[in-house]
Amino acid sequence: AKREGRNRYSYYTAEMNAEVKRRLELETGLRRALREGQFEVFYQPQVAVENGCWVGLEALVRWHHPERGLVSPDEFIPVAEDSGLIEPIGEWVLAQVCRQINEWKRRGLPSVRVAVNLSARQFAKPGLLDDVAAILSAEGMGTCAKQIELEVTESILMGDQRRSITLLEGLRAMGLSLSVDDFGTGYSSLSYLKRFPLTALKIDRSFIDGVVDDPSDATIAGAIIDLAHSLHLSVVAEGVETEAQWQWLRAHGCDFAQGYFFGRPMPATEIEARLTARLAE
Ligand code: C2E
Ligand code: CA
Ligand code: CA
Ligand code: CA
Repeated sequence: AKREGRNRYSYYTAEMNAEVKRRLELETGLRRALREGQFEVFYQPQVAVENGCWVGLEALVRWHHPERGLVSPDEFIPVAEDSGLIEPIGEWVLAQVCRQINEWKRRGLPSVRVAVNLSARQFAKPGLLDDVAAILSAEGMGTCAKQIELEVTESILMGDQRRSITLLEGLRAMGLSLSVDDFGTGYSSLSYLKRFPLTALKIDRSFIDGVVDDPSDATIAGAIIDLAHSLHLSVVAEGVETEAQWQWLRAHGCDFAQGYFFGRPMPATEIEARLTARLAE
């Protein structure tokens, strides 16, 4: 039994070492990716539920790994978050989105709103407001700041609520909109919604999955839509994959939707081609 215990111990150690090694390699890779410009911002369309027309985009970062190809953010964002690298990565994404909005504007394309994800670590960083203001001004955003929306999760806001309110007010004062991402999955106290200067709730994909055939998902999604509207917030459904889900959302008065049914996240050039086609219509 002693020997078995020891084997088990070394088995776990080997596994832990492999995990530590994987994380360290990812971290080194991410530092290098920042230096060498291996990140790219993809954009996923958001539509008005009523008519399916594009009204906005969500910026989603991608990593072109030199050996592994396109790496998904689900794999590297957690490591970026733990190592603090999410701060420079997040700042790069915001600056890149500003440059893109300005470029589309210069080329006369229809203006769309762009949502940018803000991580817990970025939100907790002292000086967030100054950093965001510095990026907006360095990129010459001026009135275009209105086109930017920041997405934060419930748990991020729930930490120090007074501080959250001050930060959100500061961001709103710069002209930015603010939405709550993955709504319904965090531990939310509903009373905070009233006190935070928010503009939208995003219904998590896990509820949209079941709206058509799981009555409890449908009940939750419907309740989130009503809650948002009673607080004068708009509501976005995430992860819409079928026509039936879209029709359900239409019947229940959801404002906006995003998901593979309307379009996958795609490079800026593809977005441009579609916006240009729309101009020609
Ligand atoms: P998220 O913010 O909840 O983004 C939505 C995710 O759902 C995206 O995954 C998107 O590609 C995926 N998605 C969209 N429509 C559908 C659909 O119809 N079906 C399914 N199954 N999935 C759909 P992605 O791009 O892999 O990003 C994963 C997560 O990584 C994001 O979740 C977000 O939390 C994080 N992330 C991505 N970009 C950034 C960034 O620039 N900064 C930060 N802090 N986090 C980011
Ligand atoms: Ca998001
Ligand atoms: Ca989400
Ligand atoms: Ca998510």
